[in-house]
Amino acid sequence: MELRSVRDADVAGKRVLVRVNFDTPTKNGAITDGTRLRDVIPTLELLRKREASKIILLTHVGRPGGKMVEALRVALQEQALHQLTKVPFEVLENLRFDPREEANDQIFAKELGSLGDVFVNEAFSVSHRTQASVVGITKFLPSYAGLRFEEEIQKLSEALTPPKGALAIIGGAKFETKQPLIEKLLSSYSKVLLGGALGNDVIKARGLSVGASLVSNVPVPTAIASEARLEIATDTVVSERDKHVERTALTNDIRAVEAIVDIGPNTARAWAEEITGASFVLWNGPMGIYEDGHTRGTDALAEALAGSPAKAVVGGGDTVAAISKFSFDSARVFISTGGGAMLEFLTKGTLPGIEPLKK
Ligand code: ADP
Ligand code: MG
Repeated sequence: MELRSVRDADVAGKRVLVRVNFDTPTKNGAITDGTRLRDVIPTLELLRKREASKIILLTHVGRPGGKMVEALRVALQEQALHQLTKVPFEVLENLRFDPREEANDQIFAKELGSLGDVFVNEAFSVSHRTQASVVGITKFLPSYAGLRFEEEIQKLSEALTPPKGALAIIGGAKFETKQPLIEKLLSSYSKVLLGGALGNDVIKARGLSVGASLVSNVPVPTAIASEARLEIATDTVVSERDKHVERTALTNDIRAVEAIVDIGPNTARAWAEEITGASFVLWNGPMGIYEDGHTRGTDALAEALAGSPAKAVVGGGDTVAAISKFSFDSARVFISTGGGAMLEFLTKGTLPGIEPLKK
């Protein structure tokens, strides 16, 4: 996929609008993870080196629903980024304070466009949204992909056409949202391992009892459930609701009162070995309810990934949070910050925000 790159943009003496995603996690008015701020710095440095006259950042923060919400102003992110880089920039107030942003309103897009001479998309993670600052604005300005945006596309494109013997691991929740991705992966990956609540759905579809486990209310199509290259856990960690009784259960031996909270130790070991032997690994979705401390399955896979020679792409908001305590060789393991945009890109091979940047 050939995109117009910010590296090829003529920005000298020009005002450059950069769409970023500064919707950073915060707690008690402080940013708890500044990854999204740090990710844009290389593009800002490039723009300064190329003598852009002004850099104006465009972002949304949270979901203010088209009106001003004091707690969602951009000042917090703006200050934090000024502490991370000396490159001068301004930040426009939260785009989603204006209802026209999410509506992809063309007049709003034109107004935004009039603030600059060149547009750079450095917000891959919102590029599945047809919104004024992502799609609409590209009609009015010469538009380019930012450096981090390009890296996302390059790494995720490798995951779209993996080498022979590639392994996909999908977990997390809401089968229906990830079903198209699973179907896609079954056409290009040797094996798809399914854990998390998504695994519960296939366990159930294969006629086993999942007891009180979380399942989707949309049934799994038989074509997927019967696919031999789709593997489910052979053992699980189950917990009895409201009692803190936990045990390891074979997947065909789950009682009505028990809920699956993680993949079991044998499965974790087997899947870790699969990772070690794979040519390429794509991983999205935690293996268990990690927020409640059921992290063992997810941890085992992360450890295997950190120690294996395989190239890998890992992504998903919860997945990235769950594995943040591990460190990976960045030349081998790419951690996508794309979230929903990553899932959509892997399913469809493009996004609304990518199309206008194509050469
Ligand atoms: P990502 O954001 O990485 O794509 P998802 O949003 O799909 O991941 O899923 C994350 C959620 O899945 C977490 O809230 C986690 O608790 C939940 N989950 C994982 N395993 C289970 C399970 N066995 N039962 C219920 N929920 C689960
Ligand atoms: Mg999530």
